[in-house]
Amino acid sequence: MIKENFNDYKLSNEILKAINMLNFKNPTKVQKKVIPAVLNQKDIIVKSQTGSGKTAAYTIPICELVDWCENKPQALVVTPTRELAIQVKEDVFNIGRFKRIKVSALYGKSSFAKQEKELKQKTHVVVGTPGRIIDHVQRGTLDTSKIKYLIVDEADEMLNMGFIEQIETIINRLSKDRVTVLLSATMSKDIESLCTRYMKTPISIEIKEQNSVSDRICQERYTVSNKDKMELLRDITIVENPDSCIIFCNTKQKVEEVYDKLSSLKYTCNKIHGGMEQRDRLSVMDSFRQGYFRYLVATDVAARGIDIDNISLVINYDIPQERESYVHRIGRTGRIRKKGRAITFVTQNESKFLNDIHKYIGKEILLKERPDKETVNNCKEKFIEKLNTTPKIKEVKGDKLSKEIIKLHINAGKKTKMRPVDIVGTLCNIKGMTAEDIGIISILDISTFVEILNNKGQLVYEALQTKPIKGRLRKVSKVIYNDK
Ligand code: AMP
Repeated sequence: MIKENFNDYKLSNEILKAINMLNFKNPTKVQKKVIPAVLNQKDIIVKSQTGSGKTAAYTIPICELVDWCENKPQALVVTPTRELAIQVKEDVFNIGRFKRIKVSALYGKSSFAKQEKELKQKTHVVVGTPGRIIDHVQRGTLDTSKIKYLIVDEADEMLNMGFIEQIETIINRLSKDRVTVLLSATMSKDIESLCTRYMKTPISIEIKEQNSVSDRICQERYTVSNKDKMELLRDITIVENPDSCIIFCNTKQKVEEVYDKLSSLKYTCNKIHGGMEQRDRLSVMDSFRQGYFRYLVATDVAARGIDIDNISLVINYDIPQERESYVHRIGRTGRIRKKGRAITFVTQNESKFLNDIHKYIGKEILLKERPDKETVNNCKEKFIEKLNTTPKIKEVKGDKLSKEIIKLHINAGKKTKMRPVDIVGTLCNIKGMTAEDIGIISILDISTFVEILNNKGQLVYEALQTKPIKGRLRKVSKVIYNDK
């Protein structure tokens, strides 16, 4: 039976409340199929396109199913990239917020010790990239004994990146008594064989959007020589005058080059590529998501899975050399039922790549004449006007959820033998507070963080100025919310 409404599923109030606050009105197609299947503990293979709501399709039932009282991880989500791991972590955090689901992200080029410390605390869901997950498993810092749900997201990309063996290593460490969900935009023989070996009579779900990425996005191309590309980019951006735009290049050197040029022309822009520090990459993605600048110059690190709404234009400054990459890149625009626009620059010796893409998407990208001088000149005034206006800052997903939650810092932790029960005991003794109003509690060595839900943060904050916790008055302060 196809359900139409989130209320039709057997979801708890905490999960429904979060869905509602994220403003998800109705389940998307993939959610309609995947949510009930996972709730019924079925293995599933999901072939679905980017931007279809696939992440929430598995995070919603996972958050529903995990047992809050169990301290060891119960769900493991494996993703090909760190960026996607972080994004999935945020989604789990948002959906599981009122159930107080604790989620950790494990990925390379980031402190192992910090992740290890996090894993020592209650953790319901772990999201990570294969290499770092294996590191933690082998060093005994990730306990897999209670993992009942395994999600392999973007399996085709795992294959491209040579991670399939690592996925098998991970699977072999898990209990056979588990639910496995595998998601992939494309299904190759290798993926099918992985599914046959490790899944129990899986249900296959293929979501064919009526409007495929390719149909939803208006695609055009220009023939250009390498030395004219920059000038064409300039003209196109003037004519198109997008609110937000990603410019994809094939190498980090090219990203640097294009970024330098655009900066010198006073574009509000930034860059992202694999050679940058993880922290910087995240911060660039965050600012782009919030709309602090309009032009992001990027390599393919920004193409997969990364969820940014309302990108009006994607420009392939370099045509991608892999056809799948084309679809992922242009899929950054036209998210969830929106129209998008993508423009590709093609040089004369790149017709091989172009033909390959045409075969893959099943149609020809429209060839356009470059805009003439007069058109460009006519558009200049509006372009400069936009260049000089500060972009409107967008509300970040989950902000609405954060607004009614205040995180408090208490100046005492494990070293003073603070336990969750001490915190809960004190808080429940404050007039007007119940256990339902207490969110995630994290106890570190000398500090404790506790989330207060339902707009009761101020009340608790004031009460704790005079109320002792575990026999002593503690220093309590509000944390400026930033969970990344
Ligand atoms: P994904 O395909 O997982 O990358 O999701 C694409 C975007 O759709 C994300 O911004 C989600 O937050 C959003 N989304 C997911 N489910 C829904 C829904 N049921 N209604 C509206 N937006 C949704």
